[in-house]
Amino acid sequence: MHDEFKTLTKFDAGEGREGFLYSLPALEEQGIGRISRLPVSIRIVLESVLRNCDGKRVRRKDVETLANWNAKSPANAEIPFVVARIVLQDFTGVPLVVDLAAMRSAVKKLGGDPKIIEPLVPVDLVVDHSVQVDFFGSARALQLNLEMEFKRNRERYQFLKWGQQAFKTFQLIPPGIGIVHQVNLEYLAKGVLSSQPSTLNSQLFYPDTLVGTDSHTTMINGLGVVGWGVGGIEAEAGMLGQPVYFLTPEVVGVHLTGQLREGVTATDLVLHITQLLRAQKVVGKFVEFYGDGAASLPVPDRATIGNMSPEYGATMGYFPVDQESVDYLRATGRTDEQCLAFEHYFRAQKMFGMPRKGEIDYSVNIELDLAEVQPSVAGPKRPQDRINLPELGKTFRALLEKPVRDGGYGKVNVDLREKHLVELNGSPPRNGEMASSDTKEDQGINPGDEWNKIEMVANRPTPDSGKEIEAESPDVFAHGHSRIGHGSVLIAAITSCTNTSNPSVMIAAGLLAKKAVERGLLVDPAVKTSLAPGSRIVSDYLDKTGLQKYLDQLGFNLVGYGCTTCIGNSGPLHPNIEKAIHSYDLIAASVLSGNRNFEARVHQHIKANFLMSPPLVVAFALAGRVHIDLSREPLGRDKDGNETFLRDLWPTLSEIRDTMQSALTPETFRKFYRDFADQNPKWNEIPSSTGGVYRWDEKSDYIHEPPFFQNFSMEPGHIAEIRGARALGIFGDSVTTDHISPAGAIKETSPAGRYLMSRGIQPRDFNSYGSRRGNDLVMTRGTFANVRIKNLMLPGTEGGVTKHFANGEGEQMSIFDAAMKYAETNTPLVILAGHEYGSGSSRDWAAKGTRLLGVKAVVAASFERIHRSNLVGMGVLPLQFPEGTTAQSLGLDGSEVFSIAGLSDAIKPGQTITLEIEEKNRQKRSVPVKLRIDTPIEIDYYRHGGILPFVLRQLLSK
Ligand code: SF4
Repeated sequence: MHDEFKTLTKFDAGEGREGFLYSLPALEEQGIGRISRLPVSIRIVLESVLRNCDGKRVRRKDVETLANWNAKSPANAEIPFVVARIVLQDFTGVPLVVDLAAMRSAVKKLGGDPKIIEPLVPVDLVVDHSVQVDFFGSARALQLNLEMEFKRNRERYQFLKWGQQAFKTFQLIPPGIGIVHQVNLEYLAKGVLSSQPSTLNSQLFYPDTLVGTDSHTTMINGLGVVGWGVGGIEAEAGMLGQPVYFLTPEVVGVHLTGQLREGVTATDLVLHITQLLRAQKVVGKFVEFYGDGAASLPVPDRATIGNMSPEYGATMGYFPVDQESVDYLRATGRTDEQCLAFEHYFRAQKMFGMPRKGEIDYSVNIELDLAEVQPSVAGPKRPQDRINLPELGKTFRALLEKPVRDGGYGKVNVDLREKHLVELNGSPPRNGEMASSDTKEDQGINPGDEWNKIEMVANRPTPDSGKEIEAESPDVFAHGHSRIGHGSVLIAAITSCTNTSNPSVMIAAGLLAKKAVERGLLVDPAVKTSLAPGSRIVSDYLDKTGLQKYLDQLGFNLVGYGCTTCIGNSGPLHPNIEKAIHSYDLIAASVLSGNRNFEARVHQHIKANFLMSPPLVVAFALAGRVHIDLSREPLGRDKDGNETFLRDLWPTLSEIRDTMQSALTPETFRKFYRDFADQNPKWNEIPSSTGGVYRWDEKSDYIHEPPFFQNFSMEPGHIAEIRGARALGIFGDSVTTDHISPAGAIKETSPAGRYLMSRGIQPRDFNSYGSRRGNDLVMTRGTFANVRIKNLMLPGTEGGVTKHFANGEGEQMSIFDAAMKYAETNTPLVILAGHEYGSGSSRDWAAKGTRLLGVKAVVAASFERIHRSNLVGMGVLPLQFPEGTTAQSLGLDGSEVFSIAGLSDAIKPGQTITLEIEEKNRQKRSVPVKLRIDTPIEIDYYRHGGILPFVLRQLLSK
């Protein structure tokens, strides 16, 4: 224990307990910075820097620099932030545990003790991303989807069970329990943590801080916990004792005043904030909410706002700790001791209570009156494109006919009354492949049963009228068939921890469903309806309040406790619906309470995706279409044929409040958050291997030893210029990590699909890319394989194709095949891209796959924060074009040869180097590019070939 700054202080931790803390007020008293005027989020990071100041990882200078943070011009200094814990979800967590296992194997091969590879801070992995909506609209859907999940993911789960026993500080929350951020909010987060250092005879307390391998880790900011999403590579380094490095950020203060109006939900508020802050360009900054309006928001509303920080581009969307935060901990079953320690600690640090205007110095101040917020949706492609609810119909119609180059769908002469009959009964199972009875027996369940929805839908009441549709009226609700057209809602999903963690909007959805059912309204059978809460707490209160049965009657039966549609695990649509979409090139719609709606994220066949609150999801499922003004037009007819409007169904704030009060108790949280394995017998049935070093199984197509430590030596190489490189792809703006490394379905004809088939795996068992992230052989083939990615080297094409240039005009082939051909001739590769390259979810495979394809550098107009750092973390060089320059403005078509000059061991963060371009006709030109290695430590990472070799060399040299 150090006391470098004489700040180690005793405090009253509650209930007569005495504890120690590193006191920020004491630091200020010594004249080191005006700490009491710093944003609270900066103070919490400062406490970590102060506490971990050991003169090596964290230096005295780091403390002084951050304590003197200047709101208007934050020093461009690198902050070494040692976090208290790490959270993972399974899609990103499995590859991380695979890397740890690979590091142990590498240490063993080098003759070291594999146990030196061990997480040094607590790690919690929640298995939540693997459940898919195969079954829905039935009381059996939950169980059947869980069975499918276990069948598909057995190998991964076996591996995770090995990890659970191999690493001491690794806790695993099995499938079927909840979604990582909701579980974090309701259970994992402690607010304040304590440890018993050997030199103190009482506990040392410190704030709960974390990083997570999921962008929406920021949801925990709603509880006053500092944390954000990082790439798996950085998280791995964090686990192994490395600080998370970031540059001193600007902090945007958002002063909230007023109150939300009747009829406006927390989802409307977060969509409003997303649009507002996107326009304010908060990318890479901390956002801190404060003022009376912030104080009036309950923690679940704050968490909803924190959750969508990646959508507004901020590193965090933070709410300081106040009485509301402590009350939330108490209401969710945390012990009195915990709640008291939380409150007393923050009071002792003078960080308790919602700041008022003028108390804190922010870099930028933004005002928002909550009363201005309107009911809204966002879409159809980006979460920041908010649309006031009454304008959705008009906006959708306009987008339909807008040219594709302007962000529209490029349709001409659209008649929205035109609908196409789709037969939904008696359809064959998907792919026709499940006809073999032995396969059915083997599996116990038949994935073709997903179309048991037909049988399930039969339980929904149907109107006796079979009358033809009228213009702009809701579609006919006929059992066994439907009529669909542009704007038809084909997926309606109450999904995503963004909203399912918030009882007010979930109860509002239930109350709206109740009123709809009581009036006899129905949902068209073409709409794939689902409810996937982020924890079992939601089911408990929906059951207790009697609301679940109404949701069931509209088809919103429980499908699982996991991410489902939010991550694109929306499952297949009925084959006849998919056929109709293709045949008539329909712009169909999904409505979901998620936070992202990029192209092909929700479902490959649905191009218009609208984010909205859970009650609006139910309302649009009833309406069956998005080209409607719900403030004016009826969303359906009641059992007597009367028109029913949204206003007839919308619950009042007092109805929601009254219902909530009877539903939530601390005991419920305590009951559901314990003995996870016991509560999940399927998990217990999974066998697990034991031992400290994993026995890699060459037969496995889910878990494979990655090649990152092949030919590993203790000496890093030198940084050298890149010469004679070819372009593997040239992309435009807003290429997301999902374009680079898709999480969803694997196409049969894709390199990954062909590879799996060559291993004897049938398409029905491909599972998703996300679930195969433990296998580099699949993931490398899946890199740049998103069906919607557009490589400008082949204008007019979509999907992972490129041109391979040996000489001449170039031969068209898949990106993977081209990369492998270039590897045969040792040709280095580059990617050229537009603005916001790598936006979207943090995804380490977007960087790992890029590296394994042989890409040495990515030159982009701008980068998303996490992806840029992941590229460096994998030893790939990020370079930025000067303002106004792009591959297009340079007229590049991929036939050129590229060199990157000026690279050596002496490079400095952010320096300018040269991209040399040699045209087909041998003409040469040079473009200055900025090195987007942003910090000194990143130079080390790059020189070592990435973070993992860097950390491994450090551990081995101890
Ligand atoms: S529900 Fe959505 S936002 Fe939440 S963890 Fe899952 S994918 Fe991320």
